[in-house]
Amino acid sequence: MSQQTPMMRQYLEIKSGYSDAILFFRLGDFYEMFMEDAVIASRILDITLTSRNKGADEEIPLCGVPYHSCQPYINKLVAHGYKVAICEQVEDPRAAKGIVRREVVRVISPGLVVDTDSLAPNENNFLCAIAPGGDGGWGLAVIDITTGEFRTTELSDIAGVRSELASVQPREIVLSEEGWGDELQKKLADLIAGCMLTRLPEWVFDVDRAREELQSFFAVGGLEAFGCAHLPGAVAAAGAVLHVLKETQKENLPHIERLATYQAHEYMVLDEATRRNLELTATLYDGQRRGSLLGVLDRTMTAMGGRKLKKWISQPLLDIDRIRRRQEAIGELVESGLARNDLRAALDGVYDLERLNAKISMATANAKDLVALKNSLLRLPEIIDRLEGFERQLLADLARRIDPLSDLAELIGRAIVDDPPFVLREGGLIRDGYHAELDELRLISREGKNWIAGLEQRERERTGIGNLRIRFNKVFGYFIEVTRSHLDKVPEDYERKQTLANAERFITADLKDYESKVLGAEEKLVELEYDLFQDVRRQVVAEAGRIQQTADALAELDVLCSLADLAHDRNYVCPQVDDSDVLEIVEGRHPVVEAMNLGERFVPNDVRMDCRENQLLIITGPNMAGKSTFMRQVALITLLAQIGSHVPARKVRIGLVDRIFTRVGASDNLARGQSTFMVEMTETANILNHATPRSLIVLDEIGRGTSTFDGVSIAWAVAEYLHDNPQVAARTLFATHYHELTDLALTRERVENYNVAVKEWNDQIVFLRRIVKGGASHSYGIQVARLAGLPPAVIDRAKEVLRNLEAGEFVGEGVPRLSRGKREQVREADQLPLFAAGGDDRLRQKLEEIDIEVLTPLEALN
Ligand code: ADP
Repeated sequence: MSQQTPMMRQYLEIKSGYSDAILFFRLGDFYEMFMEDAVIASRILDITLTSRNKGADEEIPLCGVPYHSCQPYINKLVAHGYKVAICEQVEDPRAAKGIVRREVVRVISPGLVVDTDSLAPNENNFLCAIAPGGDGGWGLAVIDITTGEFRTTELSDIAGVRSELASVQPREIVLSEEGWGDELQKKLADLIAGCMLTRLPEWVFDVDRAREELQSFFAVGGLEAFGCAHLPGAVAAAGAVLHVLKETQKENLPHIERLATYQAHEYMVLDEATRRNLELTATLYDGQRRGSLLGVLDRTMTAMGGRKLKKWISQPLLDIDRIRRRQEAIGELVESGLARNDLRAALDGVYDLERLNAKISMATANAKDLVALKNSLLRLPEIIDRLEGFERQLLADLARRIDPLSDLAELIGRAIVDDPPFVLREGGLIRDGYHAELDELRLISREGKNWIAGLEQRERERTGIGNLRIRFNKVFGYFIEVTRSHLDKVPEDYERKQTLANAERFITADLKDYESKVLGAEEKLVELEYDLFQDVRRQVVAEAGRIQQTADALAELDVLCSLADLAHDRNYVCPQVDDSDVLEIVEGRHPVVEAMNLGERFVPNDVRMDCRENQLLIITGPNMAGKSTFMRQVALITLLAQIGSHVPARKVRIGLVDRIFTRVGASDNLARGQSTFMVEMTETANILNHATPRSLIVLDEIGRGTSTFDGVSIAWAVAEYLHDNPQVAARTLFATHYHELTDLALTRERVENYNVAVKEWNDQIVFLRRIVKGGASHSYGIQVARLAGLPPAVIDRAKEVLRNLEAGEFVGEGVPRLSRGKREQVREADQLPLFAAGGDDRLRQKLEEIDIEVLTPLEALN
């Protein structure tokens, strides 16, 4: 290092503190990157790689980007999963003795993006830290620095962490370098896959350190007010998040106003598989919002509302009062008709106050952002006014929580011009009349300019030079230009400055006097405007808390209006939610299929479940009949009911559900390196281990990934377990193509059989889409195969094979004989149903003839 230039020494020293980031080193008008950083950045950014000391032994790779257009470059590096550390000159180069002092002022990583233009407006951008808590539990804290949302919770086990992570969907996860960090990384590998993982030293996660740091950051004496004083994991995780924030954002955090502690048991538990299977916020098919529940529900007018709705869907409530308050508010909005439309129209022009607020707090906001804030604030009185026409408690509360913030709107309106420039250092920001000194400087500058503008005419008259011109350039300032042919008329007091090919340039003492007035005033003007702007920005920052509270209330109002609008358009009803064990839906519809299915009219269906008579419904019916649609629709209606929304049905009653579990279809998890069957069994195990009598379980085709014998046995045992074991006796919908399972109803009291009705017609089937009582008689697989377009020859042959199978043979006539080894294998993989209609019919008949009422024990044994 000693052989390096002083500047390179400074660089290396700073870089050593940020070895995991690409360092943007400010040199004049550029950010330069050196060495390894330069090699990586030039490749990703597609910019030229050069080097310092070219040709010398120690060439140093180098590349750079202009500082005033650096943002797209930063975004690109971050999008590629890199961190970027911004190192600025922190003293005026003119005042510096020796080398200018430089410091890293901010670190940008995927979870800590501040340039909101590069983020999806209706998605949060979370960074999340996890820390061990008491009793084998885990603390989990998240922050979105673009909105200031900072919350923490404690979860009792790893399954809780998984479901919480699936709900939050962070962009970046912070774990310890210690062993437990490795373990977590392994256990959460699939959830971590898409985001950046940051490993930090163990002391960062120390509870006592975290407690102290949080207390001093929020200037509080204890953490009781935040509700996490007694939750070591929650405190440690929040402390780790705060540590990362301070390291990366330095002083720019005034909008982080509080830490909210929430409890996972305040919300319905939705594990990761269930969120995915029910396509709550993204479809299984392409991961997009469109086509998901959120996609159908989202009619919000603001980005804040969009983010809030996503949160509501991810966290259905368990508190009946809270649910009812939302229901009532939505009900009133539904009925209000025009008033609702007016409210939504008023919300329409409101910018993303949360992100504007964060931007202003982090001092990255320009004058245009302040004007955008003002324009949004100006809409608040109208919103409050309209809201005051409503009576329900939640709406009245919202009207109170929305602060009109007229003082801020007034301040910005008085200070900043309506259409300011993007740049802050060239003036033109501040309105006339806002500041006396500024007005005076403007007057001086204007008068000087007017005097100079008048000079041309006066001098033309005085000298008789008709084409005399007053001009300006950066080198000489103002000057008088006279063409060669008129030089003889130039008066005594003109002082020659420059000679051109066919003209000469002059100045006069008066002209220079006025010029210095104008230029001096302009220089001061620009400085003063910048100071005044910063002052206004500081005054706005001081009110960050009020803005945040208002933004939150607006977001909630937006969500309520959005749900009301949907309920109105799609004819949803308000469900009755209580603490009974009932789940009753009359004429329920699937919210997404109904909205998407343009060709086919959606057929509504009923369901009635409780834990006394109809606890476990076995649903049979051919493929494509509508089994999964029906079951998902029950789950989605339940979920909608518990976020407080109205639901697609004619009448609904729901006894509170604490968790929804789904095991749906053969979801393809090959990417995670697990076999389909293994995934299926893991998910089933999770259900059996965690269900409670308050849960709702949706099982679709359990045991499909293995041989029929295994499959049917597992399905049978799972169903029995859910029925017989009081601890897990949850309301369950169980779709299966194993008709054998319908026999469970014979011996198990609370098992009911249903099937999806089909009509047979000329050897074809018509799907009626109606769920009716009783088990299905056929599987209609061949008919469905025909519908799918299998060649007629294959269909005919399949029918033949089926007839032979039903007659008790494995293959049909005309099949070439198999070798002996092969025959054995075939028998091994025999997929005959357990209680097949053929084969053992005689035995079955005999068994059925036995009257067990009169059977002696010895006869029974025989
Ligand atoms: P299964 O699970 O029995 O194989 P699905 O639930 O996947 O069947 O349904 C197959 C298709 O039938 C779905 O894509 C859907 O478009 C349509 N469908 C299902 N239920 C209904 C219904 N109640 N009304 C109208 N169309 C339906």
